[in-house]
Amino acid sequence: MRARHVRRAAPIALLASLTLISTPGVSFAEPAETATQQIQLNPAAAQQDEKPLGEQIASAEKALEKVKKQAADAKKRLDNTTSQHDKAKKATEDARGSLVKARATVAKAEAQLRKAQQRVDEQSSGFSFAGVVNSLMGFLGSDVTDSMSQDVDAKRDAADDAGKRVEKAEREQTKAERAKLNAEKAHKQAAAKQDEKQSELDKLHERKKAEEAEKQAAEAPADGGAAAPAAPPPPPPAPGVVKPAEGTFTSGYGARWGTTHYGVDIANAIGTPIHSLMSGTVISSGPASGFGLWVRVQHDNGLITVYGHINESLVSVGQRVEAGQQIATMGNRGQSTGPHLHFEIIENGVKIDPLPWLQANGITL
Ligand SMILES: [Zn+2]
Repeated sequence: MRARHVRRAAPIALLASLTLISTPGVSFAEPAETATQQIQLNPAAAQQDEKPLGEQIASAEKALEKVKKQAADAKKRLDNTTSQHDKAKKATEDARGSLVKARATVAKAEAQLRKAQQRVDEQSSGFSFAGVVNSLMGFLGSDVTDSMSQDVDAKRDAADDAGKRVEKAEREQTKAERAKLNAEKAHKQAAAKQDEKQSELDKLHERKKAEEAEKQAAEAPADGGAAAPAAPPPPPPAPGVVKPAEGTFTSGYGARWGTTHYGVDIANAIGTPIHSLMSGTVISSGPASGFGLWVRVQHDNGLITVYGHINESLVSVGQRVEAGQQIATMGNRGQSTGPHLHFEIIENGVKIDPLPWLQANGITL
């Protein structure tokens, strides 16, 4: 922004002097842009030490891509561990169901065994007087209960196995849960980092947008001046209107450094003559806040023109001046970092954009 301001302040000799004078933190500051502007200028100067915004955006985009990939990987891991945890939970539930069934089977077999033993006991006692039958029944009965108790043992073993499977499934579930929690934490961190990088990039884009808008605002009047070759030539100067100074148009009216620049700047060497735009009466001549020295002329058509940062005033208040009469010399006083004329046109108390007015009267800067 400032580099442009200076670059456009050719010729070469002037450019060199401007570059020397342009110390960081100061620029073509204007009186109407005092305190706020100084605050705006310093961060702008600090930014000069940074990498160009385009490079910053490119590396921020790269960084964002990287964390996005990391976040996507973390999400994948989270999905995997979540599904593994779900499976492990289901496996534990299944194992617990099997255990319940196995225990029920054991209980049922145990009950059957008890009943059978009871029956054998009853039969043995009932047949106490029939020795042979008794012993035969007792033998048969114990044979039956033996095989039943073997069956119960087998079912108890199966239930024990089912219990072990439950314990194992619970351990797997705990492991899966821990993995899921870790994945959740990692994903949260990756997502936060992604948000951070995204907002960094957004901020850079906003800054770029603001810079481009400022650049456009600063260039718009100049572009108008250097219109396409097809554009019609400007009208000849209106009678009684004279270009206030020769030099390089370095800054237009409008938004600049987050504030408004209420005039146009014409840069040239110190001592370059400054002429009254039209005939009129001098209403100010001397020190002015921010401008160093200024001259103001009240014209016969009601307009007031302002000539700021002058090196020397050649007129005094109340003096009558003609259009084109030299009223001052160009300077570098006040909040200015290179010799230039800050020129304003005030119409009905409002500082208007001088460029269209000048163009309409055949004067291009
Ligand atoms: Zn200015």
